[in-house]
Amino acid sequence: MNAVVFTDVQKTYYANQGDVDALGPISFAIEPGETLAVVGPSGCGKSTLLRIAAGLDDVSAGTITVAGQLVGGPIADVGIVFQRDLLLDWRSVIDNVLLPAELKSMDRNAARRRGIQLLAELGVADFARRYPWELSGGMRQRVAIARALLCKPKMLFLDEPFSALDALTRDQMNVTLQQVQATERVTTLFITHSIMEAVYLSDRVIVMSARPGRILDDIVVPFARPRRLSLREDLAFVEIARRIRVHFERTGVLVG
Ligand code: ADP
Repeated sequence: MNAVVFTDVQKTYYANQGDVDALGPISFAIEPGETLAVVGPSGCGKSTLLRIAAGLDDVSAGTITVAGQLVGGPIADVGIVFQRDLLLDWRSVIDNVLLPAELKSMDRNAARRRGIQLLAELGVADFARRYPWELSGGMRQRVAIARALLCKPKMLFLDEPFSALDALTRDQMNVTLQQVQATERVTTLFITHSIMEAVYLSDRVIVMSARPGRILDDIVVPFARPRRLSLREDLAFVEIARRIRVHFERTGVLVG
């Protein structure tokens, strides 16, 4: 059974200033354990796609199933990471990570052990008692990922999580996320507008058109894991990145 299935999904926002056709119709599936990257230009409906997959927003047409169940409201078995980390400044790092455990009434000691283990996997165990405002942007996102994974969700949805970071920190976050995925074995939906990031992190890339976002291409990324950052210079990697870029040039998203 597929983890996530979109069938003829379409989303229109109805607003006083005029309706916005944001997404689709779009159909695709994510297999269990797979990392699917969705890459597309700003405003093409990527965040909309993630929100409706998580049941945080409704669809205008079509259906979405997660683990065989029709999505009709917020789904439980998913951790979500947004571009803004949404950490609570008045709680320490570990208490931010433990927040989902409180909301789900998970055993406190087990949750704390899991939280510390995740902070270690993400390289920020030494900062467990610090406060978010004491951390760099990259470290804050590490904490946000730990929080998203606390309750061992089957799925992790990430919406441009590294877009606000500088280029080197972003590269490092790509490596770290890949390591954590190997340990946690979580089905992942990764939204990005970076071609390199999409190819480096994923097993498959969906290339989206400009709004309303539709699928221009669906590309298998065959490279073995763990992946070195230098993979990005290999000819086969460059060829996939080129294939994606050409779609954006053909459709006028990239010019020059
Ligand atoms: P992306 O994540 O690819 O940048 P979004 O999914 O955020 O795109 O948005 C797709 C389109 O839908 C954009 O034109 C955006 O302005 C519009 N949109 C998003 N959310 C709303 C909303 N709540 N009401 C009206 N329009 C919206």
